[in-house]
Amino acid sequence: MTQAPLPTLLHPGASSIPGYDPEHLSVPLAQQLVRAAITPITDTETLPLKQALGRILADDLVSPIAVPSHDNSAMDGYALRSSDLSASPVTLTVVGKAYAGHPYPNEVQAGECVRIMTGAVMPRGCDSVIPQELATAATNTNVTIPPGRVRAGDNRRLAGEDLPAGSIALQRGRILTPSDLGMIASLGIGEVSVMRKLRVAFFSTGDELRSIGQPLDEGCVYDSNRYTLHGMLVRAGIEPIDMGVVRDEPAALEAALRDACRQADAIITTGGVSAGDADYTKQMMARMGEVLFWKIAMRPGRPMAFGRLNVDGKSAMLFGLPGNPVAVMASFYFFARDALALMAGSTPRPQLTMRIPCAEAIRKKPGRTEFQRGIVSVDTSGKQIVRITGAQGSGILSSMSEANGMIVLHHDHGDLPAGSLVDVIPFDGLI
Ligand code: AMP
Ligand code: MG
Repeated sequence: MTQAPLPTLLHPGASSIPGYDPEHLSVPLAQQLVRAAITPITDTETLPLKQALGRILADDLVSPIAVPSHDNSAMDGYALRSSDLSASPVTLTVVGKAYAGHPYPNEVQAGECVRIMTGAVMPRGCDSVIPQELATAATNTNVTIPPGRVRAGDNRRLAGEDLPAGSIALQRGRILTPSDLGMIASLGIGEVSVMRKLRVAFFSTGDELRSIGQPLDEGCVYDSNRYTLHGMLVRAGIEPIDMGVVRDEPAALEAALRDACRQADAIITTGGVSAGDADYTKQMMARMGEVLFWKIAMRPGRPMAFGRLNVDGKSAMLFGLPGNPVAVMASFYFFARDALALMAGSTPRPQLTMRIPCAEAIRKKPGRTEFQRGIVSVDTSGKQIVRITGAQGSGILSSMSEANGMIVLHHDHGDLPAGSLVDVIPFDGLI
């Protein structure tokens, strides 16, 4: 793996950027700084088509053929020559059949037509198809076409109308969807070159954390962040490397960070990045690489570390997320996810956002971005509305499960009256 030199934004020069205040960094500026520091990986692999679902296309995919390869019928009906039609009913002679996969072999002459099924190649000489329900078949060999029901070119799909030969069917960097798999198959291509999966190592820090199966001593909590992170990483098409729970001890943290740096392209830690006495993660990170510590003007998820660790000539991007379970999810979704997508070689697509009226007033402090857990539903008049899940404490993970989207309340907004349109990012999309 080649390592690019560190982008300048990770050097102390960051302080000269307008609006740069590490104690109060706006979400858009922090996102911009993260993006600017990312170098994409370059390794690729070739996969059979079905295994490429959700993977990132490594090269532009050029169509070797036109799709469809021939003009064909969009309807079951009769293929005809529009020059035969007139202002009064016309009776044509049915000279043969064209079925999908069984073309009519001859040229169709004036006064003739061909019984045709959807997808069958347009017979030579014909330019239009009349759907069968609009024509009257008096006998097997004669059909009468009423006037004014079909125009030249109707119900005829043109060769190459989906994709002309030689055109770029899909651009590199695209995350392959089910429709993409179908499209690639329609070109007769059975394997594709994709980026190798990004490897992300993650661990939780905190002396109070217990793993499933251990007794829960007084004052302890089960570690949930590793499970949330596992889920979010897998959904993002990333290979997760779960490194367990690490105690709040400098030596243990150093060993875990070194191990993670050797194995992974990026490291995500949770906890220990605020200013508490036991927040050794912060000190250790600062010693092991070039790491910026930010307080982001957002809620939840205020403290965050971002940078790059270097261990024995190998480096890895680092995201030091806060410990609170909801803050972990918000900072993953709004910082790490896009950055990891870029690093994995994909072209981030604009986030699908809906603008929906809020059912109730929402309290919001200007000067920070708030991500509130929202439930989108349909009211009695059939209109979509969104309400917040209730208490928005950053430890209340159940509200994340209850929500079906994140309401984004932008930096400058203040309190919002009921009925205000708010941006909602739905958790689940169709594709
Ligand atoms: P910290 O950022 O380390 O100060 O942690 C903030 C809060 O999040 C504390 O209440 C922690 O107990 C809690 N917390 C930290 N890590 C985890 C985790 N992995 N799973 C569940 N709760 C956590
Ligand atoms: Mg902690």
